[in-house]
Amino acid sequence: MGLLSIIVPCYNEEAAVEAFYARTSAVCAKLPAVDVEYIFVDDGSADGTLAVLKALAGRDRRVRWLALSRNFGKEAALYAGLEHARGDWAAVMDADLQDPPELLPELLETVRGGGYDCAAVRRVDRRGEPPIRSWFARRFYQVINKMSKTEIVDGARDYRLMTRQMVDAVLRVTEYNRFSKGIFSWVGFRTKWVETVNAERAAGESKWSFFKLLVYALDGIIAFSTAPLAIASVLGLVFCVVSFVAIVFVIVRQILWGGSAFGWPSLVCIILFLAGVQLFCIGILGQYLSKTYLEVKGRPIYLLRESGGGDSGEKQA
Ligand code: UDP
Ligand code: MG
Repeated sequence: MGLLSIIVPCYNEEAAVEAFYARTSAVCAKLPAVDVEYIFVDDGSADGTLAVLKALAGRDRRVRWLALSRNFGKEAALYAGLEHARGDWAAVMDADLQDPPELLPELLETVRGGGYDCAAVRRVDRRGEPPIRSWFARRFYQVINKMSKTEIVDGARDYRLMTRQMVDAVLRVTEYNRFSKGIFSWVGFRTKWVETVNAERAAGESKWSFFKLLVYALDGIIAFSTAPLAIASVLGLVFCVVSFVAIVFVIVRQILWGGSAFGWPSLVCIILFLAGVQLFCIGILGQYLSKTYLEVKGRPIYLLRESGGGDSGEKQA
């Protein structure tokens, strides 16, 4: 017998957790030769999520819960869950049933078979998603894969099952700006992609506004690529060359024809444009600097308020 840890980050999911637990435990009951533990991470929910989790833990000793001291974001919640997992394998899933638990047996077999260290799920369509969002999502994957050496698979969900070895590897990546899709790929190991169709949220609503997703995408690019820094330098170089050519042109024209005092509107345009490019490049620098600043502070990725469930009983952390 081995132990499978199922890690579920929950943020305001009181409406979804029960349904998640019911459907997942029905599937897990049929998993051959494996014990299961659930680790629900309450990511500073403002609703009754924690109460629901405590009630679950009271009914089922396999359920453990962690309550973070505030909302740290899904990535931090995942890290907290992985750190507390005791399993020989760990699966990470969303609480909203968008990650169908029915795939668990296949994922587990894939990893237990020995050929793979990780089985991950990607969706092959984006049905039920606003078209604009899908369009931007696809562009994001194109851009980040051009810019970064770490492969970020389009449609990859954060739904995956890993061996203990890979979990430990992920835990060793202790950066503060966590872009999980990138980290899972960066640590390497052999990953098998299992395909599924998009499932809609079971209850509650998505925590991701378009703006939040945009910021997340930019964070992902900055965390896994330094190409924007190179773009800034290349832009600078290109403009140097262009201005050099322009200077030669102006001098030659002056010598041959003379009298070139006209043209200030074009000058203003050029100055404005160059000022814009400069600010843009400084902005890129600023982005990297701010991330570096946060990393250098070395703050903890998450803080625990309390935890409980399982055999440990309730305790304050
Ligand atoms: N989540 C979290 N902390 C957050 C935001 C989300 O733990 O700050 C959890 C959420 O409870 C869910 C998962 O992350 O289990 C995915 O969130 P959501 O379904 O809102 O994202 P979407 O599926 O729309 O991308
Ligand atoms: Mg969801």
